[in-house]
Amino acid sequence: MIRLRGVTKRFGDNAVLRGVDLDAKPGEFLVVLGPSGAGKSTLLRCMNRLAQADEGAMTVAGLDVAAGRRAAQVRELRRRVAMVFQHHHVVPRLSVVKNVLTGRLGAVSTWSSVLQLFRAADLELAMDCLERVGLAHKARDRTDSLSGGQMQRVGIARALAQRPQVILADEPVASLDPHTARRVLGDLRQACRALGITVVCNLHQVDYAREFGDRIVGLSQGRVLFDRLPDALSEDELNALYAGHAGHAG
Ligand code: ADP
Ligand code: MG
Repeated sequence: MIRLRGVTKRFGDNAVLRGVDLDAKPGEFLVVLGPSGAGKSTLLRCMNRLAQADEGAMTVAGLDVAAGRRAAQVRELRRRVAMVFQHHHVVPRLSVVKNVLTGRLGAVSTWSSVLQLFRAADLELAMDCLERVGLAHKARDRTDSLSGGQMQRVGIARALAQRPQVILADEPVASLDPHTARRVLGDLRQACRALGITVVCNLHQVDYAREFGDRIVGLSQGRVLFDRLPDALSEDELNALYAGHAGHAG
């Protein structure tokens, strides 16, 4: 479902990704673990063409990302690949269910087209996605009446409503307390397992990576230091990953 080979990305003199290889099988929940500045966000952005890699080969959800020079190819990529961000990017004054419905469009053009496109089948799908994150009872509430963890789950439901093949989640729980963070990651993993969606989830907390990752890829200074099953990850590898940083937060 995902195959990256030798992906590099520079910003001026700053080599942010230095030959990254990455593979994910369909339905896998892959965690990219690494300290701040390791290049995690840039890696995800290159995978759905929010940023353009300088070199390397990238196949994501059956599409050759590097070859996607045409707008139509990028649109198709964005349809097959949904994003979940650290800050939930929901529209506060819309109802919860309307926020989820915007996921049906993949790449949104205008708000009026969003509001016209709601159909009964879409509504049913949106409610199913809300159920998967335990928020069906909040469907009609204004989104800004929810807690931070609930808003993040709305962002996940919206990604699910897109029926993507892949979800790229960039530190989806970074601003949440541990109890809420575990709930959010648990919902994300369970829903994606049930729907067969492949996930690449950036995290900087080792504990969450071990608890939720099918596999953990350690990224440091733009390089993959290890690619392990959670149980096979050693303290030495973790120390190397966070060498020169303040230490790894639990
Ligand atoms: P992480 O998500 O692991 O914290 P990032 O991918 O955000 O890492 O950033 C990696 C490096 O790339 C940092 O040094 C950051 O300053 C740099 N960087 C990221 N985005 C840009 C950009 N748009 N322009 C210039 N430098 C950037
Ligand atoms: Mg980041």
